[in-house]
Amino acid sequence: MEVFAVLFLFIIGLTCGSFFNVVGLRVPKKITFMNDRSKCPSCRRELAWYELIPVLSFVLQKGKCRNCDMKISYMYPVIELLTGILFAWSYIMIGFNFELLKALFLVSLCVIVFVTDMKYMLIPNKILLFFLPFFVILSFIAPLEPWWSPLVGAAAGMGIIALIIIVSRGGMGAGDMKLFGVLGIVLGLEKVLIAFFLSCLFGSVIGILLILFRIIKRKQPVPFGPYIVVATLLTYFFGDDIIQAYLTWLKI
Ligand SMILES: [Zn+2]
Repeated sequence: MEVFAVLFLFIIGLTCGSFFNVVGLRVPKKITFMNDRSKCPSCRRELAWYELIPVLSFVLQKGKCRNCDMKISYMYPVIELLTGILFAWSYIMIGFNFELLKALFLVSLCVIVFVTDMKYMLIPNKILLFFLPFFVILSFIAPLEPWWSPLVGAAAGMGIIALIIIVSRGGMGAGDMKLFGVLGIVLGLEKVLIAFFLSCLFGSVIGILLILFRIIKRKQPVPFGPYIVVATLLTYFFGDDIIQAYLTWLKI
């Protein structure tokens, strides 16, 4: 049965990932995504159901539109696959309970933010405001230890980024700050601090590499959301191990 549950969540994840692509690409541009069929952005032809199967359609069509041969971004299948894997992983790590719901919402928020920030360097308020009430309710149903951790976590997350914005004058954006506020509710105080530290670490290491290999120019603005998202998911799933490893390292 276990295998079926993992497979089930993987397929749900693939499908949600496909939807998150659409949400992430359309919400920042204020295009409706509800009653609108997906079209090829190049030839405007409406896509048939068999062109909308996550990952599989992309592979079968060799990453091109069937009508006009325009290349389809590899980001679509990557995001779909990633969401599938993260949904299945959430179940493997957590099992079937309310915490799983929290994990699935967190993965969903992270994937959408990854898409919007990579594509538009934007973390829309609409997305954050959509997820906020779910996290607040779930922090009562599946509470953290101690009970005030989500509250202080949200405040600390926003506070640190606010400070960085003031000191660095634009190193990070208001979107990053609000995102950390929402993440603080899910992660709690301890883990939001770890997520912050890790995102800065990833951001500076990868940033330096990108400049060294001349993929980006110095002082070219880059989205910080993707680093936050990766750091958050690592911290959410492995935060206790990270804390444990750090404490062991301190004793040596
Ligand atoms: Zn086309």
